Amino acid sequence: EFPRERLGYAVQRCSAIPSLLEFVDLMEPNKLEALADGVRRRDRRDLSRAITIVESARKEDRAETAALFSKFRVGNRKEALRIGISGAPGVGKSTFINRLGTTLADQGVNIAVLAVDPTSEKNRGSILGDKTRMADLIGRNNAYVRPTPTGLSLGGVPENAKDTVFLLEQAGFDVVIVETTGVGQSEISVANLTDIFLLLIAPAGGDELQGVKRGILEFADIVVVNKHDGDLKEAASSTAAEYASSMNLHVKRKELSSGHPKTLAISAMLGKGVDEVWREISDLADWRKANGYWATKRQSQERHWFRREVQSALIAMLERSPAISAMIGEMEARVLNGAIDRHRAVEKLSMLIRKQRLFE
Ligand code: GDP
Repeated sequence: EFPRERLGYAVQRCSAIPSLLEFVDLMEPNKLEALADGVRRRDRRDLSRAITIVESARKEDRAETAALFSKFRVGNRKEALRIGISGAPGVGKSTFINRLGTTLADQGVNIAVLAVDPTSEKNRGSILGDKTRMADLIGRNNAYVRPTPTGLSLGGVPENAKDTVFLLEQAGFDVVIVETTGVGQSEISVANLTDIFLLLIAPAGGDELQGVKRGILEFADIVVVNKHDGDLKEAASSTAAEYASSMNLHVKRKELSSGHPKTLAISAMLGKGVDEVWREISDLADWRKANGYWATKRQSQERHWFRREVQSALIAMLERSPAISAMIGEMEARVLNGAIDRHRAVEKLSMLIRKQRLFE
């Protein structure tokens, strides 16, 4: 089913992206089907290969992803509970996820972790890497941890993280955690990808909300102050209190009656408070489902990702036309030398493009 004429194009790209070599091999329909089967069986190797295909896809052309996805039927799997976890490096995200994850895995929950790391680019494919603090979780049969080095991707979350989450759901995971370091826009993208968003904070003295952009609090459902132990215990309590009052003052939610956003002080290292965090997550999920927020949130996320992809595809389509890209170049030169103002230039461009009868 994969368009054969794209073969040459894919091979061309292989020199840049070695994983595509593997994809060419997979273009045999039966092999792609077998890969999809492997994903459904939650075979780690197949799942990792499938995710690599999805991650290698370029933003404006997802032919490979589309070919793979055609092997799955949308809506035939139970959706996972998607949890976003964000926080600065060192606050204890891995330690926390390891704790929560192993607890859930030991209760028979199938759990996947997509660890998006904007700071690492090189150790692609290494499962352990700097994720040694998730070693217990990685050792569980029903857990799967996938580090995704995003390298220089703007915003810190790859466009295709949404597709990876889809694959993880096809693989039948009950819980999918998307972890990201608080860099750039990554928290917002993760919030847009998940049902429940947790912000992890380190204890700090002083009354300044440390390093956390106020805007991000708008997205947090649960603020978790970690390291509530030993010498840091007191600082953690006061940081939690600070956040709690700041959230009450600043965060306006339609759904305040759920009691969220909540602030909790925990110690991931000692495992204290991790169960409470899980209880809050479950309670909030139940509350949203009962009050109609669950489905609407997912719908608006779907809309967001669909529109983003349409936009990328349309722009790519325009840029592929030599006539149109020449027109854009020419207009750009005229804007730069002051011959025409930006708005007028864009207006003229739209007019010219319409004249090409490419778009009605
Ligand atoms: P990440 O970068 O956010 O994933 O943070 P890690 O989980 O790798 O933890 C960073 C450091 O904080 C490590 O040295 C951990 O041992 C330590 N740490 C994590 N959780 C706790 C905690 O609850 N209490 C204390 N005291 N240290 C912690």
